[in-house]
Amino acid sequence: MGDCLFCSIVSGKIPATIVHETDKTIAFRDVNPRAPVHVLVIPKEHIDSLLAIKASHADIIADIHQVVQAVARQEKVDEKGFRMVVNNGKDSGQAVGHLHYHVLAGRKLGWPPG
Ligand code: AMP
Repeated sequence: MGDCLFCSIVSGKIPATIVHETDKTIAFRDVNPRAPVHVLVIPKEHIDSLLAIKASHADIIADIHQVVQAVARQEKVDEKGFRMVVNNGKDSGQAVGHLHYHVLAGRKLGWPPG
């Protein structure tokens, strides 16, 4: 996916502040943080969105969840709490067409989201 922003972060063409990495997943700081901790966790393989996840992606999705755990511990928000969000489609505000999980923490998070 030559023109995908997050694929360019995976390949190193666009710089990012990477906080955790495995063979399948990277986690980096959101450039426009909405909370004191705002990390994006993405598969290295291009997957368009949550709706494009297939059973064959099970290992990747499990790895992403383990990276979310690792990020929460690293950022020291595992005990106080954090939120994992996947925007999907226009109404949710999804702006980047590469599956990504927002990890938000470090302040009281409102519910329901706006
Ligand atoms: P979404 O609205 O769910 O598609 O989220 C896309 C997120 O990517 C937003 O929170 C943006 O701030 C973030 N973002 C866009 N470009 C970059 C970048 N170059 N590095 C880090 N985060 C980015």
